[in-house]
Amino acid sequence: MAIQTVNPNTNKVVKSFEEMSDHAVDAAVAQAASAYTNWRKTSYKQRSEVLHKVASLMRAKKEHLATLITLEMGKLFAQAEGEVVLSADIFDYYATHAEKFLADKHLSPEYGQAFIRHSPIGVLFGVEPWNFPLYQVARFAAPNIMIGNTILVKHASIVPQCGIAIEDLFKEAGAPVGLYTNLLISGKRASALVADERIKGVSLTGSEAAGASLASEAGKHLKKSVLELGGSDAFIILEDADIDKAVEWAVVGRLNNNGECCVASKRFIAVEAIADEFLSKFKAKLAATVVGDPMDPKTQLGPLSSEAAAVQLFIQVKKAVAEGASLVLGGKRPDRAGAFMEPTILTDIKPNMAVYYEELFGPVAAFYKVKDEAAAIKLANDSPFGLGGSVFTEDVERGKRVAEQIDSGMVFINHPTWTQADLPFGGTKGSGYGRELSELGIDEFVNKKLIRTSALSDPF
Ligand code: NAP
Repeated sequence: MAIQTVNPNTNKVVKSFEEMSDHAVDAAVAQAASAYTNWRKTSYKQRSEVLHKVASLMRAKKEHLATLITLEMGKLFAQAEGEVVLSADIFDYYATHAEKFLADKHLSPEYGQAFIRHSPIGVLFGVEPWNFPLYQVARFAAPNIMIGNTILVKHASIVPQCGIAIEDLFKEAGAPVGLYTNLLISGKRASALVADERIKGVSLTGSEAAGASLASEAGKHLKKSVLELGGSDAFIILEDADIDKAVEWAVVGRLNNNGECCVASKRFIAVEAIADEFLSKFKAKLAATVVGDPMDPKTQLGPLSSEAAAVQLFIQVKKAVAEGASLVLGGKRPDRAGAFMEPTILTDIKPNMAVYYEELFGPVAAFYKVKDEAAAIKLANDSPFGLGGSVFTEDVERGKRVAEQIDSGMVFINHPTWTQADLPFGGTKGSGYGRELSELGIDEFVNKKLIRTSALSDPF
């Protein structure tokens, strides 16, 4: 894949980049390994100073960074500004809390004394997607830098300027050379790098195919991996839900980030008592969506990240209809330049159709009417994915009981799946393994070393 900025609002190439040579990649890995030998010995205070500086630079450059995000992948500008702030919050969060999270854990063994010490493991390699160009990197880099690891990131080929901008923030923050390095290489070359013995752990956020490729290399070379992959979150509306509130959140859940969130609400499952009311209100709101230039504050739905992404989504919808699904709304590409797709609702989807099990990465909602709560849970779980999910009910205890039965890593009651620095993020099944963010996210690439002292009277 060419490494290029292509503005998805126009589909025009803005800037092209040369891939790094193998020699340059090798030098970058060597620099990260060399930086590790010093960084692992720094204090939490020294590490947190760098991260707080990165966070404050991000906030100071909010407009510039948000403009780059919108230019390269089409996010609405206000949401891009929100992403910059969220990413800065994540850097600050780990800078503030890591020492507490990583404190020695004292054990009470039957004999002697023992504790767990949290030590870094070395150079980590992260492969990141384009849909949240700053946030995805923040949640991988911030905790791991606080542990004492050093970081190599291969960012998605369509957001090269965002990738470079993050590395520049570290340089400007005074980070040592090799602490954080951006690798301008294509996805094809990423998996091969895992074999490099200087790299000790790998993390990928992206599609199942890319995740399987990277993780199989990691398995082959006995390295720890974390995968955050796709999702097809169920959004369940029970008969006792506040329908108007559910509709408002359904629109946000489906259209946030132009529909390109791993945790977007993708399958809307309504029990029959309220299904028609929900669908007609949902349709009316989606139909009124203002589609246009993501830099225009009036726009509610911008382009997809690339023409290829828009074509793929359009083909999925066309195939679903050819296989017997019904279009309640949309289904076409708007008559304008750019990687746009109309807000769309599909219904009458059956398990024998490809779309039933696929992820719809854009403004296309799959709607299902089911008999009751049990049928809603069954359908929610009939998916290869298990990332997030939502339940709408005025009875929170009922919501918790339903949440308990959903096979996913996160369930939100009366809200679409969301993210914040102090809540864990991650999935089950085809959505990957491991967690990012919160206290759990700092626990993945750390050596939990047992240190035991024996008294002479101990039996062994
Ligand atoms: P993708 O093609 O898998 O790209 C993600 C990253 O993987 C990019 O940097 C890409 O590089 C790289 N890559 C591609 N092929 C690779 C390979 N064989 N080996 C190693 N790396 C490879 O994903 P996408 O379609 O652009 O992104 C959308 C997907 O990501 C969706 O499924 C979405 O749900 C998922 N996602 C999940 C989360 C989560 O937290 N669970 C968050 C965001 C997105 P190139 O760009 O150079 O191809």
